[in-house]
Amino acid sequence: MAPPATLPFAALPADLDGEVRLHEPMAAHTTFHIGGPADVWVRPRTVAAFARLLAAWEGEVTVVGRGSNLLVRDGGIRGVVVDLHHLDHSDRDGDTIVVGGGLALGRLVRRMGEMGLGGLEELAGIPGTVGAAVRMNAGAHGREIADLLIEARIAIRDGRLAWRPAEELELAYRTSGLARDEWVVEARLAARPAAPAATERLHELLAQRAASQPVSLPSAGSIFKNPPERAAWRLIRDAGLAGERIGGAQISPHHANFIVNLGGATAADVEALIHLARERVVADCGVALALEVVVLGEQ
Ligand SMILES: Cc1cc2nc3c(=O)[nH]c(=O)nc-3n(C[C@H](O)[C@H](O)[C@H](O)COP(=O)(O)OP(=O)(O)OC[C@H]3O[C@@H](n4cnc5c(N)ncnc54)[C@H](O)[C@@H]3O)c2cc1C
Repeated sequence: MAPPATLPFAALPADLDGEVRLHEPMAAHTTFHIGGPADVWVRPRTVAAFARLLAAWEGEVTVVGRGSNLLVRDGGIRGVVVDLHHLDHSDRDGDTIVVGGGLALGRLVRRMGEMGLGGLEELAGIPGTVGAAVRMNAGAHGREIADLLIEARIAIRDGRLAWRPAEELELAYRTSGLARDEWVVEARLAARPAAPAATERLHELLAQRAASQPVSLPSAGSIFKNPPERAAWRLIRDAGLAGERIGGAQISPHHANFIVNLGGATAADVEALIHLARERVVADCGVALALEVVVLGEQ
């Protein structure tokens, strides 16, 4: 689809294959339901279209998946925001499976199950995409995407694409060595036969998650990383902050490492709670909490 005629930026490729919107509210694309407008929002249909966009666009580029680990500030995001939803293919290739960076983890686990494959059941309840999971080394219940990742196809800022082995990506607890302007467009995972009773385990893990997290209210999951040997939720609860409210945002009384949007919360409300939690936890036990959620955009 050609960019709209009113586009204030001349630099989108004329042959861009994908949706383009101007001043798109990011609140519609984050699980927090919070976030000001992206100047330009693009959802390319293919890896090649994404690469062409990168080669043509000279301004800022931000890539998002399902927006499930994002706090987008109220002033929105300048430049182009690229949403990789359409890169959601999955193909068996011998003893590996090659999947798109925009594929949702829950769908990946279901498709692996249909192929008789397993090993990532623990990640099924994480509401994000494969690409972001590689960047953050997403994980749960002792399992991480790193456990099955063989290599990832990376797009760099000028639109070039290259496969890089997992060892080069330096995946560690909720982090990787990927640079800010390197993005995962495909990943090759080991295709391991599903363990006996994998489906039962999957259902058990999803039920456990539903019971322990405030899944009925908008959030971005855990706000802080767990410090070594400690649980961030416990430190916040012990600092007396479970249930604390600022504007429409609340530190969940159910799971104190989640901030939930009770309705109409702004990013400023959430950031004020983040600031409060950090201050009170340092004062209470001397631990400096590090953010797990990614904060983007302008105030
Ligand atoms: C209810 C709930 C529960 C959660 N539980 C867990 C959990 O158990 N474990 C866990 O690890 N996380 C959890 N999360 C957080 C989140 O789902 C994960 O971090 C997930 O990997 C983010 O994926 P996303 O596609 O939504 O990324 P986004 O939130 O859209 O983006 C996150 C970051 O990744 C970057 N990014 C996006 N796509 C790509 C790409 N293709 N290549 C490179 N970088 C990219 C973005 O620029 C941004 O910096 C939870 C979130 C919620 C809301």
